[in-house]
Amino acid sequence: MAQSNPDTVDLRSDTVTRPTSGMRRAMAEAEVGDEQRGDDPTVNALCERVADLLGKEAAVFLPSGTMCNQIAVLVHCRPGDEIIAADVAHLIGSEAAGPAALAGAQVVGVPCERGIFTAADVEASVRALKRNAPRSRLVEIEQTVNAGGGAVWRLPAIHAIAQVAHQHGLIMHMDGARLMNAVVASGTEAASFAAPFESVWIDLPKGLGCPIGGVLAGSADFIDECWRWKHRLGGAMRQAGIVAAAGLYALEHHVERLADDHATAHLLAEHLAEIPGIRLDLSEVETNMVFFDVMVSGTEAYEIEARLRSKNVLIGTTGKTRMRAVTHLDVGAGDIKLASSALARVLKKARVLK
Ligand SMILES: *Cc1c(COP(=O)(O)O)cnc(C)c1O
Repeated sequence: MAQSNPDTVDLRSDTVTRPTSGMRRAMAEAEVGDEQRGDDPTVNALCERVADLLGKEAAVFLPSGTMCNQIAVLVHCRPGDEIIAADVAHLIGSEAAGPAALAGAQVVGVPCERGIFTAADVEASVRALKRNAPRSRLVEIEQTVNAGGGAVWRLPAIHAIAQVAHQHGLIMHMDGARLMNAVVASGTEAASFAAPFESVWIDLPKGLGCPIGGVLAGSADFIDECWRWKHRLGGAMRQAGIVAAAGLYALEHHVERLADDHATAHLLAEHLAEIPGIRLDLSEVETNMVFFDVMVSGTEAYEIEARLRSKNVLIGTTGKTRMRAVTHLDVGAGDIKLASSALARVLKKARVLK
């Protein structure tokens, strides 16, 4: 619960958490070695643990989730290949055009509700085998959908897509930045979600509350190829067990508690739904994110963001009228009360000024 300003409620993202004292202890006491040489026992243990969790042969520890996505794309795709993903995918909008800049692959964004598309959408997106067409290569699914409000992909929808993708010889890749949120929200096991995918990764700094790192899993051959890119891009590390220890600690202590984040998100949504000037669909709050629209208040989201900041409440914007609040390890029910009453005051004032 270490925050620079203890009076601030920070709902900008689940990445703002600080390592707990238990996590810091695990990090301090970690056995370490030279990771590049395969000598770091804690990194090796984390990779085995995640491979096991996801039902894959092997895994590799990387500095970030973005590098997990980019290395997977680099291994799976050749220049001129095409990736099918949701229009709101992190891969499209938040990775500095990595697929184009690094792998030479283009991503086609499927227009869909909350980042969840269908097998029919994939069928319609697969290119004909023509010399002048991009070669469809990869289908990417984000679990949960970040810009889709934390929406959870359900297993039948994934299976239907995998069937179509594999029929067409396409590879399946899961951006599982918040896969464990989906696991806790749905009761479906991580390995079941991961089974239809050739590659899948989890992010450690999101809901799991670690400082650094992502773990990418797949077949042993795939992970071998990933290692070449890890070296090439400068992602091979030395005594990385110091940070891998946080991952092992989090998988032990911070998974089941994600249910608390989902409960606080729902509590926040219930409060916000009562505030005049806010539009919000409670049924869309499935995990730890609350997206809401402030258009009816007549004040732009950026302005509301600034006024909230002056009241020590930090909530991000995702557009002119939309805001995104994310719950996490460092947010309790009291913080939710503070945040929602600050929003109520800001919006009341906004209406008076109008
Ligand atoms: C955060 C995030 C990433 C990138 O992970 P980093 O560890 O921040 O590089 C990728 N995809 C999704 C859906 C994310 O939320």
